[in-house]
Amino acid sequence: MSALSELKLGAYTLRGASLGGLYTAFHVPELDSLFDVGLAIRGGATASHLFLSHAHLDHLGALPSLLGMRGMISSADKPLKLYCPKGLEEQLQKVLDELSGLHHWPLKVDFKPMEKDDELQLRQDLWVKALQTFHPVPSLGYLLFNRVSKLRPEYQGLKGNEIKALKDQGIEVSHWVDRPKLAYLTDTLPEALKHNPEALKAEILIIECTFLNDRKGVEVARAGCHIHIEELIPWAEKMDNKHVVLMHFSQVHRPSDIVKICEERLKPILGERLKLCLPHHSTDHWWI
Ligand SMILES: [Zn+2]
Repeated sequence: MSALSELKLGAYTLRGASLGGLYTAFHVPELDSLFDVGLAIRGGATASHLFLSHAHLDHLGALPSLLGMRGMISSADKPLKLYCPKGLEEQLQKVLDELSGLHHWPLKVDFKPMEKDDELQLRQDLWVKALQTFHPVPSLGYLLFNRVSKLRPEYQGLKGNEIKALKDQGIEVSHWVDRPKLAYLTDTLPEALKHNPEALKAEILIIECTFLNDRKGVEVARAGCHIHIEELIPWAEKMDNKHVVLMHFSQVHRPSDIVKICEERLKPILGERLKLCLPHHSTDHWWI
């Protein structure tokens, strides 16, 4: 049995683990994507895309292990596409060059540096947009969305030959429609939600909720540029997401306390849409 947690979120599966400050790594097989690499997820080793939120080691540290795994798998012949805050790519490349020397095997990555609001196409109808986050080091969140071509509302109901006639006249009958699928926001102040309202409309919102009570209060959370549940609650009313996954909990909290607090404070607002990324069994132990 996998030691990682697995959440079924509609058509998507979220596998991974996240413990604030220690490790965060997720794999969404349906999107062929990894989000952060604080752990090397074996089942995600052949994924095409890795979205790195920032370069703190609890989100980055297992990149060499992941690339080592890929080297063992012949089907992973294309370099991993690594999306990261612009400016990190040079330093990361230097680190990988050094490690390649030690490993006697090239650790190759196809860097895709991004700045807030940049958009890149991942595959036919799947795109990513970089979201602004607020952390003491360069950081980004990500929104994966489908961009599909749709007939403009005024032409709906027309027959095929009528549409063709319009097209022949050079009239633009279709337009692009974006459908936000998954938003990933971690290691940020809650202001990230104000700056990225589309995250509140994504089918899935994966968001950090590092602290949950006065063991570490709002001030402490803000000082570290993290989200405290007190500051997340006012946003919960505005969340139109089908699934809201909370993760990146601090180990100052026990899993059983996290369940209790979230059920008391957020379940009344979010209902069954609320999902918690916690270890499988309620043994009150973290993953590793
Ligand atoms: Zn973190």
